[in-house]
Formats: sequence, C-alpha cells, structure tokens
Amino acid sequence: MNHGWALAGGLVGIPIGAALRGVVYRNSVPSGSPLRTACPSCGQELPRWLLRCGRCRGRITVPLVFELATATVLALILGRFAGQWELGALAFLGVLGVALATIDVAVQRLPDRLTLPAYPIVAALLGIAAILDGDVATLGRALLGGLVLATSFYLLAALRPGALGLGDVKLAGLLGLALGWLGWPVLITGAALSFVLFAVVSLVLLAARRITLRSHIAFGPFMLAGALIAAVAL
Ligand SMILES: [Zn+2]
Repeated sequence: MNHGWALAGGLVGIPIGAALRGVVYRNSVPSGSPLRTACPSCGQELPRWLLRCGRCRGRITVPLVFELATATVLALILGRFAGQWELGALAFLGVLGVALATIDVAVQRLPDRLTLPAYPIVAALLGIAAILDGDVATLGRALLGGLVLATSFYLLAALRPGALGLGDVKLAGLLGLALGWLGWPVLITGAALSFVLFAVVSLVLLAARRITLRSHIAFGPFMLAGALIAAVAL
C-alpha cells in the first residue's frame, strides 16, 4: 500500500463523493420511472450537482456518507495501484460502485443508465493501459473475464429467477473486465467473496430479525465489495 497515493485518493474522494450525491439522488427511482429532479421537501427543480435545494435549503440525501465512502474506496484503490496504468479504469469503477451500491440498497436495482455506458469507458481505459504497458494479452484476459462473469451470473439468474436480476448480470460483466485484467485468481476470489459476504450479512440480518427468509436483499453491494476486497488484497 502506497501511503502517499492512498492519502491523495482519500482527498480527491471527498469532492467526488459530494458530486455523486446528485447522481445517486436522480437515479434512485423504480424501473421505468423518470429521473428524480425535484427537491424532496418543496418540489423545486434541483440543479444537477447541487447539495442543497436553492429554495428551501433542504439537504439532498444524508450528509457525509458519499464523501466518506468514496474517499475510502479511492484511498484503497490509489494506494494499491499507485502509478499503474490500470488505475484510471479501477478508480472509475470504484466511484461508480459507490453510486451503484447506494442506488441498489435504496431501490433494489442497478440502472442500465449507469452500468451500460460504463462498459465502453472501462474497456477504453483498460485498452489505453494495455497499449502503454505493451501488454495486449492482459486486455484479452480482461475481455474474457467480463464475458465469463456475465455468463455465469446470467446462468445463475436464469436458474434462480428473483434472487439475481439482469442488473446484477450487467454489473458482473463490468466487474469481470477489471477482475479479469487483474488475473483469474482475483476474478474467482472476487466472485466467491460476493456470495460469502451476502451469506454472512443475510444470516446476521435474519438473526437480528431485520429480514425474513422471503426478504429480497440487493446483491449489487456484495458483488462490488467482493470485487474491491479481492482487487486490493490479492
Ligand atoms: Zn426544496
């Protein structure tokens, strides 16, 4: 872990996290609904990146959560991949992941509006990294990793409808690109960790009677956490 880069990640994470607030608020809507653009308190149309409503000064979503989460994720990613060309793709996915995890917990979905445009962005950033590294084989493994993880999750979703959705499949493909770049052991560990974390948290919530066996728990945050831990720890 490079402490200087980790500190830089933590510092840039704070304004980036603040900017995420608007993205998360606008996208936390049920499937098929238009983006949320009005103040929850007074109904005033909100500017795209503002933290507070201009009319009633009401805060949009909980203060500090996005800032701290984004700072933590970027500190881990920048500290671990200091000075490496794939840092751009991984940091982008880390920031997007904070937004996706929050939206998934709020409305149990991972909007296509955020996941699909991320594919060409991550592929292009990894492509640039492959050219700069002079290592096209790693890019091939990344693309294969995305395909393998998306296919696996698609099969799981088809076998167990309701447990996993197509949003999870699209996120799996996206994370597979990054995990595949980092290597097959990282990809397998990341995928396995997501199920382990899901099981542990589900059991804790069941024991605490916060959920029942019929409850639906968003899987996206566990995939993202599993991928982050595997990427940073291995
Ligand atoms: Zn307002």
